[in-house]
Amino acid sequence: MRLEEMLKYNEEFVAGKKYEAYKTDSIPNKRMVVFTCMESRLVELLPKALNIQNGDVKMLKNAGAIIRKPFDSIMKSILVAVFNLKAEEVVVIGHHDCGMSHVDTNALVQTMNDKGIDEKTLHTLEHAGIDFHEEFHGFDTVEESIQQSVDIIRNHPLLPTYVKVHGLVIDPGTGKVDIVAKDQ
Ligand SMILES: [Zn+2]
Repeated sequence: MRLEEMLKYNEEFVAGKKYEAYKTDSIPNKRMVVFTCMESRLVELLPKALNIQNGDVKMLKNAGAIIRKPFDSIMKSILVAVFNLKAEEVVVIGHHDCGMSHVDTNALVQTMNDKGIDEKTLHTLEHAGIDFHEEFHGFDTVEESIQQSVDIIRNHPLLPTYVKVHGLVIDPGTGKVDIVAKDQ
């Protein structure tokens, strides 16, 4: 288990007071929410490429930086950041070469079966109204997907009009970003 290594490292981190370099409070210095993909290539690269330091932003992630429903957990987190944590700007950042692009949901079902989730379970979910293929479909082009997430945030009935919402796409190799949507 990797956790054991982590716990050991953590003891040394705390004992060595390495946290001192990261002291800050919970109000984001840049008054910004960044919503991006869980992509592991971006864990350090994205903050470095955009000059984001500890304490600067509220960072939200999911697979693909996808919002499709106005009351999903990401949207709720954005609203909390706006109303309770002084955020005034939201940036949705997708990336090229994303695993949520063109997800083969039939292959995913097969992988689940291979890993012990039986067919019956999937049928039960289907009967409960969960469209497996729709839930895991992902997107066809990252730009369209980011625009869709941006539009859902911008048009949310609970989002104050002063909040700016932007969309970017980042290259997970170089960290270069391109603009998909930019508020004035
Ligand atoms: Zn991704």
